[in-house]
Amino acid sequence: MTQFAELGLCEPLLRAISDAGYLEPTPIQSESIPHLLAGNDLLGCAQTGTGKTAAFALPILQRLAAEPRDPGLRGCRALILSPTRELAMQIDECLTAYGYHLGISHAVVYGGVHQNPQVQALAKGVDVLVATPGRLLDLMNQGYCRLWKVEVLVLDEADRMLDMGFIHDVREILAAVPRNRQGMMFSATVPPRIRHLAGEILNDPAEVMVAPSATPVEQVDQRVMFVDRADKRALLCDMVRDLELERVLVFTRTKHGASRLASQIVRYGGLSCDSIHGDKLQSSRDAALRSFKEGRIRVLVATDVAARGLDIDDIGYVVNYDLPNDPDSYVHRIGRTARAGAEGVAVTFCDVDEIGSLRDIERQIDTHLPIVTDQPYHSEAGREKALRMREAPPSRGQSGRGRSRGGRQRSRGRGRSNAMAGD
Ligand code: AMP
Repeated sequence: MTQFAELGLCEPLLRAISDAGYLEPTPIQSESIPHLLAGNDLLGCAQTGTGKTAAFALPILQRLAAEPRDPGLRGCRALILSPTRELAMQIDECLTAYGYHLGISHAVVYGGVHQNPQVQALAKGVDVLVATPGRLLDLMNQGYCRLWKVEVLVLDEADRMLDMGFIHDVREILAAVPRNRQGMMFSATVPPRIRHLAGEILNDPAEVMVAPSATPVEQVDQRVMFVDRADKRALLCDMVRDLELERVLVFTRTKHGASRLASQIVRYGGLSCDSIHGDKLQSSRDAALRSFKEGRIRVLVATDVAARGLDIDDIGYVVNYDLPNDPDSYVHRIGRTARAGAEGVAVTFCDVDEIGSLRDIERQIDTHLPIVTDQPYHSEAGREKALRMREAPPSRGQSGRGRSRGGRQRSRGRGRSNAMAGD
């Protein structure tokens, strides 16, 4: 196993890595860092949770520290584009941690908040700028931000960037960045459209592929509970209380559903809870996230988009309160737990109307998910129907691929709590 010290990183970075408690590099780090320190472009296929932020942030910091900033320079020297505000803030926090002993300045700009503090930060001059595309373009158009001195460019979560419709903004931003730069692109998947974009913005990149999308899922203890829709809330509250869960991330499909569930959990379940979704002010989302990270609330209800890229340590439990419509979202959701090798549990509440989505997910991850049978929140008839539908042979067009992870499993816990806590 490679050690950080063998990767060519300078001493202040090694100290910061040790302060962060990292013992050894993750695969994306040990494979990417040497290429990036050598100044090459890079296309990295890696999801959030694999340690990809350090993989690009450490070489950037080392490069900038090696050549101190010209005091008269106002534009940034490295630009990191992120599809979401939350991810942008997390990258900025990582820069603070990793750059602690180096004195490299950095700032983050994103929409949904007043721009003045961001404008002031830019006016002082920053080495590294982390930005979401929309706000960055706004600031550029108003003349607050110039990119003509950018030496390093990172496009993080490029697939999300395309999914969220940012490609035109990204292209406009790229047109303002010098061609002679070091480019990096990270994406959870590399379909042809991503490869095409990489061809446009990277120059003869090294390619590092780690963790195909199913890998993080394998570290997560996944279970399904058949539950009548009307009983989902009671089951969730009981579970949090009985198992004394401290940090539970709950996913709903809609923004409205997230808000409603969060207030019901507080009102009827007596648990501390908040929600994050796109209709909330950025300041409320930040406050909810902070409370969750600091342990002041036990349950955070989120929509898929709001939770994208969230980096919160110690999420032991993810609950899929609603099944997502597409299997990729399932993989992203449960990737919020079991990060960087830790263990996590993902529980999916499934009512009879959601069996089709469950089967789609099982096909995508090539796993037959174990069912928790001894929980009281389902009518017998509903459960029987759910089981029958789930076991029915695949309809035409479905692959019905093999069953990994021990084939068809049933959880046989001693009580509801024991069954959940792990047999
Ligand atoms: P990322 O994929 O960059 O979002 O990182 C996911 C999580 O892994 C973050 O909480 C990092 O602090 C953590 N992490 C990154 N690199 C390492 C490492 N080498 N060892 C342990 N944890 C790490």
